[in-house]
Amino acid sequence: MNKTLSYDDVLLKPQYSDIRSRNEISLYTDLGNGLHLSLPIISSPMDTISEGAMAIAMMETGGTAVIHRYNTIEEQCRIIEASVGAQTDRTLTADTPSREIGAAVGVSGDYLERAMAARKAGATFICVDIAHGHHIMMKEALSSLRESLGTSYHLMAGNVATLEGINALADWGANSVRCNIGGGSICSTRIQTGHGLPGFQTIIECAKTDRDVSIIADGGIKTSGDMVKAMAAGADAVMCGSVFSGTDQTPGKIFEERDGTRWKMYRGMASKEAQLSWRGKYSSHEGVSARVPYRGSVTKLLEDMERGIRSGLSYSGARTVAELQSVADFVIQTSAGLGESRTHILNRTW
Ligand code: IMP
Repeated sequence: MNKTLSYDDVLLKPQYSDIRSRNEISLYTDLGNGLHLSLPIISSPMDTISEGAMAIAMMETGGTAVIHRYNTIEEQCRIIEASVGAQTDRTLTADTPSREIGAAVGVSGDYLERAMAARKAGATFICVDIAHGHHIMMKEALSSLRESLGTSYHLMAGNVATLEGINALADWGANSVRCNIGGGSICSTRIQTGHGLPGFQTIIECAKTDRDVSIIADGGIKTSGDMVKAMAAGADAVMCGSVFSGTDQTPGKIFEERDGTRWKMYRGMASKEAQLSWRGKYSSHEGVSARVPYRGSVTKLLEDMERGIRSGLSYSGARTVAELQSVADFVIQTSAGLGESRTHILNRTW
């Protein structure tokens, strides 16, 4: 049986650097077939994460959002149109905003109609969004989508956890693949089904692909340090939900407790709560719903993430993600090492 590793199990060895300023570092990423980001961060297609306000903030900072599919086609298109429209406003502040906005679709029902409508509304890529992507229904959906959308339109698909999975999705027509099963912060797939693979190991496995496909490290990412580890292991971009949860730009209300603490909701799309609200019933549930602290604007948070990633590349002496991947030197840390890695002044017994 193979030993598998998660993000907290590993560290990157610091290396000689001749980078004098973080501005010398470029985080520009080409995800293939026309999808480009200047900040390789994507917000998850979840109904407590990615709607219009999140999409605008992500694009302004050079990343992108995938607008979730737990709505009508008209609602999803309205969100996309409004987000694309907001980009013509000179409120844009980033030096290198992205023009990319994705739309999630499923693999049955209205998925084809949804994808065509979303593209017409301005979606620059489609994300085929199912829990177990290495599946015949994914194969059939990718084939129909490719036929309808043509060869020069970016298709993202997932999720998978293995080399066989990413290779299959690439062969079926995906240009980028979301990698990780069961690692999301709100996910209970591994507990409910006994299946999955730790997130870091998933990237190591999927990075062995010889196909022309980009890797999106999806789920389980908590910090900019995890983002650096994911990219060093072979990811071209990261996808996050919890990192952005509780911010102003997420859908949903802020609620205040009597003690003055403020919260928002964040929920897995396969949680009982989410299933009940989008289809009025639930079957197998593989996620949870949680309240998370209200955290203000996502823009500040993204700026911090970007600074953290740039610093991370600098510690490996790398000016680009590709350079980082070629020089990355990982070590495994013990649980005592992890304790030392975390700020630990508050745990000290003087
Ligand atoms: P986080 O960034 O760790 O919070 O994980 C977000 C990711 O979890 C998403 O991008 C999805 O891949 C995944 N996800 C979303 N909802 C569920 C669920 O209900 N069960 C399992 N995984 C989920």
